[in-house]
Amino acid sequence: MIEEKEGLILSGKSGIYKVERNGEVYICRSGTKMRKTDGRILAGDKVLFRDNGDGNGFITAFCERKNRLIRPPVANIDLLAMVVAPKDPAPYLYNIDLLTVIAEKHGIECAIIISKSDLGDSADIAEIYRKTPFSVIETCSKSGKGIDAVKELMSNKISVLCGASGVGKSTLINAMFPFLELETGELSERIARGKNTTRTTELFPLGNGTYLADTPGFSAVDTELYCAIDHKELHTLFPEFEVFKDECRYNDCTHTKETECGIALAVARGDISESRHESYKKLYSELKNIDRYS
Ligand SMILES: [Zn+2]
Repeated sequence: MIEEKEGLILSGKSGIYKVERNGEVYICRSGTKMRKTDGRILAGDKVLFRDNGDGNGFITAFCERKNRLIRPPVANIDLLAMVVAPKDPAPYLYNIDLLTVIAEKHGIECAIIISKSDLGDSADIAEIYRKTPFSVIETCSKSGKGIDAVKELMSNKISVLCGASGVGKSTLINAMFPFLELETGELSERIARGKNTTRTTELFPLGNGTYLADTPGFSAVDTELYCAIDHKELHTLFPEFEVFKDECRYNDCTHTKETECGIALAVARGDISESRHESYKKLYSELKNIDRYS
C-alpha cells in the first residue's frame, strides 16, 4: 500500500497542484469527484497525498481549513500584514481599520508595517497602532531598519502582505528575501494583466515553515466581506476596546454617541486612538444601515 503524506498546496491550475512537504515539491492531481465535494482547492490548503515516488502524487483528502479569503484566494492565513507609508501615498486609515476588522473576524493576526520610515512622520502612524494589540514595525528598506523584525514576525506563518501601490511592498520583500526578486516581478506582472483574468495565488516557500502568499493592493482584498458582520458584534473586532467596556454606564452601550461610554472616555484620555474610534463609528453606522434594509 502506498503511504499517504501530508503536504501544503503552493499553487494549482487546471487540476494540477504543486504540493510542498519538507522542502520538496510534488506535482499532484486530484480526483474530480473530490474537487466537487470539497470546492476549490486553494493555496494554503493542507492535503493528504499519495507519493508515487517519482515527484508526482495524487491528492486523496483535505485537512480542515482554519480560514480563507476569497480575494486573494488563500486558505489558512496566519498573518495579514498591512504595509503603509507615512506619506507619498499618505495612509487612508479607514481602509487599514476595515482590513483589521476582517482579519479579526477570520481569526488572522494583524500587523502594521510602516515603510519608508526615513521620510519622517512614521511615528504618528506608529503611535495610532501601538495602542492596539497589533504588531507595529517601522522599516526602511534603504537602511535595513526593521527588516529582521518583519522576517521574525513572518517566521513559521503563512502571510499576506497588502498595501496601496507606491508604499514600497516589493522593495520591502526584496530587502527581506533577495532571492525572491524574480518572483515578485512575476507577481506584479500577473496583477497588471487585468481584472478579467481569473486570479490564482501562489505561496512562496521561504524556509522554516514560512510562506508569503500574494501581495495585493488594499482594494484587491475582499473588503466587501465586512457586510457579513453584525453591527452588534463590531466592537468585539476592535480588540483594544475590550478592557474599557466595563467603564460604559449602559450594558447595551453602542460606543458611538453615549456620554458615559468607556471607549469614549479612553479616547479622551489617549488610551485608545481617536482615528480607530472614528473608523469604528463609521463602520457601525454603515453596518446598521445594511442590517436595517436587508
Ligand atoms: Zn460604550
